[in-house]
Amino acid sequence: MTTRLATIASEAGRRVALVLDDGSALDGPEAARAAGVDPAALSDMVSTIAAWDALGPVLRAAASSPPPGATVAPGTYRLLAPIPRPAKNVFCVGRNYIEHVAEGDRAAGRETETPKYPQFFTKPPTAVIATEDTVPSYAAITRVLDYEVELALVIGRPGSDIPAERAFEHIFGYTVINDISARDLQRRHGQWFKGKGLDRSCPMGPWIIPADEIAAPPDLRISLTVNGELRQDSRTSQLIFDIPTVMATLSQGLTFETGDVIATGTPSGVGYAMTPPRVLGPGDVVEATVEGIGTLVTRIVA
Ligand code: ZN
Repeated sequence: MTTRLATIASEAGRRVALVLDDGSALDGPEAARAAGVDPAALSDMVSTIAAWDALGPVLRAAASSPPPGATVAPGTYRLLAPIPRPAKNVFCVGRNYIEHVAEGDRAAGRETETPKYPQFFTKPPTAVIATEDTVPSYAAITRVLDYEVELALVIGRPGSDIPAERAFEHIFGYTVINDISARDLQRRHGQWFKGKGLDRSCPMGPWIIPADEIAAPPDLRISLTVNGELRQDSRTSQLIFDIPTVMATLSQGLTFETGDVIATGTPSGVGYAMTPPRVLGPGDVVEATVEGIGTLVTRIVA
């Protein structure tokens, strides 16, 4: 059974949970209590990740044989972002799939060149929302609202100056991010932050899959549809700067903490680089999928 580690809102409140194959959710604290484990460790996702070596086996055992009263029926809970409010900005890598670099350079009318170093930017914690959540079209602010499906890493073990060969030891698991981007703001302000930092512009989820359930390095189909039309379709093995390189470079003199999130970049097929450009607007439904992880649904509203 896949371990879909989620944060849910149920009648009991906000809970760490496992989403089971039948769509019900195993309430993490209830499952722990039934197993004689202090449920306080499951007070939120980050503390759950920090204590995963002890909690993981308990939750996985409970998922295969749920104790009475520990499951929440489908339709009676809502998925939140797995880490609803990260402690710091979400780290992002720009221009990390070669075809995406090429389409961006083509749209800008310049020669294309493979980046020599990874390009980093961030999205603020206030941008994080859940699957099935809405994003305003920001019609008064931007005319070029766009999408970017990305594989995101969730840090487990803290560290800095992480050697590439030890990178995967620090990854707790994987989730999906849709790096919603206002392209005109991204360009106008030189630095990308304004165009990447709008409220609700970081849909994350639907849950986290622990890294021990996904072969390293991940070679997964990564795709995105708008209103059912396939726009992006690649594989996570196509990164220019692979996960160990991203982790090693970014952690030089910078500490990763448990629960930090790193979005690894998006493949080609973004709207602004299409001819003619196609931007997101009210009514659009964007589905961002990474194979083996899940589909993150985002609805654009007026
Ligand atoms: Zn991005």
